[in-house]
Amino acid sequence: MLYITDYHIYTNYSDGTAEPEEYISTAIKKGFKEIGFSEHLNLFRTDLTWCIDMQKVPDYISHISSLKNQLDNIKIKTGFEIDYYPGKEKEINDIISSLNIDYAIGSIHFIGENTVDSSEDFYNGKSFNDIFVHYFEIVFEAIKSGLFDFIAHCDLIRIFGLKYQGNPEPLYRHLAHLMAKHEVALEINTNGKNKPLGEFYPDVRFLHLFKKENVPVCVNSDAHNPGRIGEYFSEAYQLLKDAGYTEMCTFNRRERYMIPADFSLLST
Ligand SMILES: [Zn+2]
Repeated sequence: MLYITDYHIYTNYSDGTAEPEEYISTAIKKGFKEIGFSEHLNLFRTDLTWCIDMQKVPDYISHISSLKNQLDNIKIKTGFEIDYYPGKEKEINDIISSLNIDYAIGSIHFIGENTVDSSEDFYNGKSFNDIFVHYFEIVFEAIKSGLFDFIAHCDLIRIFGLKYQGNPEPLYRHLAHLMAKHEVALEINTNGKNKPLGEFYPDVRFLHLFKKENVPVCVNSDAHNPGRIGEYFSEAYQLLKDAGYTEMCTFNRRERYMIPADFSLLST
């Protein structure tokens, strides 16, 4: 059996629609071995409705911890998806190191004051090539910061399906190189399929570059409701198999462990 995991799930502690227990029962039914929660956390904005209220953080961590101890047919992990801002490394590190979690996901939703994924209006009147490169530069800084175990949807800037004019391969090559160097894992995020983009993050044309650098990988749904756990995973696993991957990574108390992934067992 393939050891199936999903580390990118939101409950109603932030902007998910259900209690952790509902996700867990769905995951067990779908044959998952391990799932982790990843509530949105933003240290610098208190007005974001999709983020966990900082005062609820201790409740969230103790709630998930109590579930870990109740279940022996599935492993449960505690994580956060934390907005990265260049120059704010110390503040982010102070919070992450104070939390008893299994993994920290770094994400870039903001360029300056604005989110890149809320509305296509953000892109109006701007050069998409310039924004694309700028976005990658922030992702590079996030990787080099050493703050995160993996990066969420590392090319989220593709969300609205706008196309980089030219060949973006050198950017992906550098991304893979930095992930390998700084021991940051790659997420295949299947939620891009549900966006105007209609594809996974990252651009799967470049998956072989990550394999070549031996960047550890995990497949995640970015689920905001239980029904999305594991959505499109067999397609993602097939892509990993085609790229030559033979293992996937798991996380426990901020340590990464590699698990053999025999993709030849895929039934699809
Ligand atoms: Zn995100």
